Amino acid sequence: MTTDSKDTKRPEWVPTNPGTEYTTKVMKGVSTGNSKPEQKNGWQPTRPELSIAAYVSGVTGGDRTVLGRAITLIESNSNRHIKMAQELLKALPSDSDNTLRIGITGVPGAGKSTFIEVLGQKLIAKGHRIAVLAIDPSSTLTRGSILGDKTRMEELSRSDQCFIRPSPAGGTLGGVTRKTRETIQVCEAADYDVIFVETVGVGQNEVVVRSMVDFFLLLKIAGAGDELQGIKKGVIELADAIIINKADGDNITAAETARADFQRALHYLAPATPGWTSNAFCVSAIEYTGVTEIWEVILKFFEHTRTHQIYHKRRQSQRREWMHAMLVDFLSDRFYKNPTIKKMIPLLEEAVENGTIPVTEAVQKLLKLHQ
Ligand code: GDP
Repeated sequence: MTTDSKDTKRPEWVPTNPGTEYTTKVMKGVSTGNSKPEQKNGWQPTRPELSIAAYVSGVTGGDRTVLGRAITLIESNSNRHIKMAQELLKALPSDSDNTLRIGITGVPGAGKSTFIEVLGQKLIAKGHRIAVLAIDPSSTLTRGSILGDKTRMEELSRSDQCFIRPSPAGGTLGGVTRKTRETIQVCEAADYDVIFVETVGVGQNEVVVRSMVDFFLLLKIAGAGDELQGIKKGVIELADAIIINKADGDNITAAETARADFQRALHYLAPATPGWTSNAFCVSAIEYTGVTEIWEVILKFFEHTRTHQIYHKRRQSQRREWMHAMLVDFLSDRFYKNPTIKKMIPLLEEAVENGTIPVTEAVQKLLKLHQ
């Protein structure tokens, strides 16, 4: 028995008495008047810690509660939990090579969750099992609340064949990358074969998501001033396909114009994936138009990348780059947490601001302290 039947208010994956080591928190909801009164004196039932073997059998045996708790373990910043999570990941089947990881990015309100809801249901009907991981790597302050502020993907969330997990936000970009990548591995071990990684398209988010998925989808809307921005930022260079969503009603002509603009821009860019031509498509997630076509494009891409060994090689190079990114992250973390360095930094900052010592000398002084 892995669930605690007494503890019905807290989702299963939320840790008991969470401290700052966890990046997931549960916000106070709106009272409907139906909920039971809060426990007096702050008492919370504790949930026994699972052994690695129990995690492994739960995850691979399809126990969603254990899967949720495994992800919570991965998201924890405590050293003990990180160690346990690594043991768990080693014990689970490693990278599956028959899954599809799809990144979807777009501004808030572009229709990402509506699109995933519609496509996801189609995929479930075809026998797929899907996981949706919504991440917000750029936001360490909101802890993912941009993505969590409304009921999303209502239909999908009711399906047994779908696992939706909000953001492992908070912490550094590197931390988020680690958590999401490891979460992908656990979901795949739990037999989810299509993984959506969804994020808002700001800052470095697109690049982060691109680095962990096979297929990268850019979701745009016409007339949001968003088109040119995308072209300028070079983000469309990363896209394996671009969707102009909300191509319905009065918006059809504007959507078609935006699609043609993007198509033209794509034409002049190097392909995001070797040998693959990225195209722009009009979709209406609420009218279900164009959604099946997008899935056909994704399947064609899957076939292309697998036939030409791109799929496997990309995953290998993603892991290699990830190793380096994590190394840089750990080194920088260790450097900036060193107490002597911490004390020295403001002094050297002042010195370089005033020009009393050259920047290179300041850096060398700091590096020496680190040895
Ligand atoms: P997200 O923030 O990118 O996940 O966007 P949502 O999926 O929550 O959609 C934001 C709003 O746009 C919601 O009110 C949706 O109903 C609406 N929306 C989503 N897709 C479409 C579409 O294809 N056409 C129209 N007209 N509205 C849409």
